[in-house]
Amino acid sequence: MSSSVITRFAPSPTGFLHIGGGRTALFNWAYAKNRGGKMLLRIEDTDRERSTPEAVDAILDGLTWLGLDWDGEAVSQYARASRHREVAEILLAKGHAYRCYCSPEELQAMREKAEAEKRPVRYDGTWRDRDPATAPAGVKPVIRFKSPQQGETVIEDHAQGRVVFQNKELDDLIILRSDGNPTYNLSVVVDDHDMGVTHIIRGVDHLTNAARQTQIYKAMGWHVPEMTHVPLIHGPDGAKLSKRHGALGVEAYRAMGYLPAAMRNYLARLGWSHGDDEIFSTEQMVDWFGLDAIGKSPSRFDFVKLENLNGHY
Ligand code: GLU
Repeated sequence: MSSSVITRFAPSPTGFLHIGGGRTALFNWAYAKNRGGKMLLRIEDTDRERSTPEAVDAILDGLTWLGLDWDGEAVSQYARASRHREVAEILLAKGHAYRCYCSPEELQAMREKAEAEKRPVRYDGTWRDRDPATAPAGVKPVIRFKSPQQGETVIEDHAQGRVVFQNKELDDLIILRSDGNPTYNLSVVVDDHDMGVTHIIRGVDHLTNAARQTQIYKAMGWHVPEMTHVPLIHGPDGAKLSKRHGALGVEAYRAMGYLPAAMRNYLARLGWSHGDDEIFSTEQMVDWFGLDAIGKSPSRFDFVKLENLNGHY
């Protein structure tokens, strides 16, 4: 067994562990176990307004109830901000990033122009080639990543297949805000790299981020982890799962008396399958689990199936 696989679950602590988060954690856990590797836990608490210690506790508690253990201590992303700043400086020094002194008025004008032309808003690269010596006095710059403007960024995704992004569609992303705080894409790349993550398994809503992150990895000369972007979960009516479909928190199912094994079995089947097997033990799931059996189309959260499963555990 290879012990080199390292996955991670990286929740933002803004609420309880929801069904989608529970499934992401389970897939990371099952894959790590299947490969004799490790699953790390990183709390993405950089949004200081929305992150709460109660949510961190609720997520840890939800994982523990689900029986999903992680290796080592949970890492706080916020605590690593100085390392993220250091990498932003390296990108600057390597010529892969630049300081942007655009005023709020200039950015607003860019937005209005895009709206008038009915195209997506994108930063126009004003400060890419400008001499910082001409920067207006008193403006604190942001640091932007110099996204390559030619060619393609390709992701060979275990669930989505080959996904091709045209680089010209991706504008120069802010990696460090004017207050010195790093932004999500920079922090995630630096943390995943430093933590030795080999496989990223997360929701498909992060697919565009994956392209941006791939560009940052390449600019740093770092190895890009393997990626698996898991399809969305829909409600029984085919619409994206939301509050109106009922309980979204793993907590709620615990309170209703569902057994963790039933919940694991159910979450595993949301997007992953093993032939026609509907009911299986956790050991079987770990034995069978593989990334290439994760489907591409949205899975359906069907309460009735969960009810039926509970009777088996
Ligand atoms: N913190 C992000 C979220 O909760 C996940 C980031 C990632 O997995 O890269 O959506």
